[in-house]
Amino acid sequence: MKGEVLIIKEGLRDPLAAILQSYSKVAILTDENTHRLCYPLLSGLPAHHVIEVPAGEEHKHLQTCQVIWQRLTDLNFDRHSLLVMLGGGVLGDMGGFCAATFKRGIDFILMPTTLLSQVDASVGGKLGIDFNNFKNHIGVFCEPQVTIIYTPFFKTLPVRELRSGFAEVIKHCLISDRKMWDVIRQKSLEEQDWDTLVKHSVDFKKSVTTADPTEKGLRKILNFGHTMGHALESYFLSRGNRIFHGEAIAMGMIMESFVAREEGLMTNGELTEVKNYVLSIFPKEKSPYDEGEVIQLMLQDKKNKGGEILMALPEGIGKAKWDVKVGGALIKKAFQYYNDL
Ligand code: NAD
Repeated sequence: MKGEVLIIKEGLRDPLAAILQSYSKVAILTDENTHRLCYPLLSGLPAHHVIEVPAGEEHKHLQTCQVIWQRLTDLNFDRHSLLVMLGGGVLGDMGGFCAATFKRGIDFILMPTTLLSQVDASVGGKLGIDFNNFKNHIGVFCEPQVTIIYTPFFKTLPVRELRSGFAEVIKHCLISDRKMWDVIRQKSLEEQDWDTLVKHSVDFKKSVTTADPTEKGLRKILNFGHTMGHALESYFLSRGNRIFHGEAIAMGMIMESFVAREEGLMTNGELTEVKNYVLSIFPKEKSPYDEGEVIQLMLQDKKNKGGEILMALPEGIGKAKWDVKVGGALIKKAFQYYNDL
């Protein structure tokens, strides 16, 4: 079934090989790191091509799409061909976008290889690229044939990347599951049970995106931490001082929890609990930023309506609400709260 998520514990190659056999042409899209470190885990697949693009968010743009579309054209890919994305969220979003638009759409499979891409980008059908430093500014909603998840890919993942993905796990617990929030806080990052956490996140995100596939309501709760976090991420990216997605979201979760406290949605104790735990994993970001420019970027947020900034905010721990209008003065107070920590 389209959009299905397969979580594989061992024998990664066989289910993929079975799917590949029903396509006339197959290409596996990798970046330079996943080609070297993840692709060898797929040895023995039926005939296919490999397309490699440079790694990193700074390549998630139209020029790289042109390279991918050109390769698919040179390889004579038709509407019955398949593109498999073996990589993190950058590759999945961009490669999926290329597949969804090539000849008006060919089938594609996501094989996410980072924690972030397994717990977040793997579910929900959002695909796209950055444009002039605006994150995910151009894109479509389109589901893969299947998403194949395999946590042993994390063995080669740099710890900063693992930690970045953990921000989304924290977010999922905060907005949906008080018990799991208590579970993750018992262990260090390295000790976490990834199979359990990835399944928890995938199941939660799937339930939300199935109920609201095009983000008309409920799905907006997933944006907790992202209104301020995305703007900060874009800001630092445009200054050539990139911080990781999860690092920006961690900042955003602290700032937006402060907003929730100011809006009467969280108690002081809950705000302190969130702030202390998030800071224990993501130490305070010390790079300076221009608040006015970050607010300008927030005004570009795709979730806004009529020029007003709308946020998803936690209601206590384990629940959230969306479309909360937040004015500039409160946003500035939230920056101040974080800066004073
Ligand atoms: P990424 O794809 O850039 O991967 C991070 C780095 O890790 C890259 O250098 C990559 O080459 C390397 N890498 C990947 N897997 C590896 C492995 N197993 N071993 C060693 N190295 C490996 O970044 P990401 O953090 O996975 O994803 C971030 C992107 O995901 C952002 O562009 C964000 O917008 C997007 N995203 C999309 C959604 C969605 O719903 N579509 C959700 C969240 C994030």
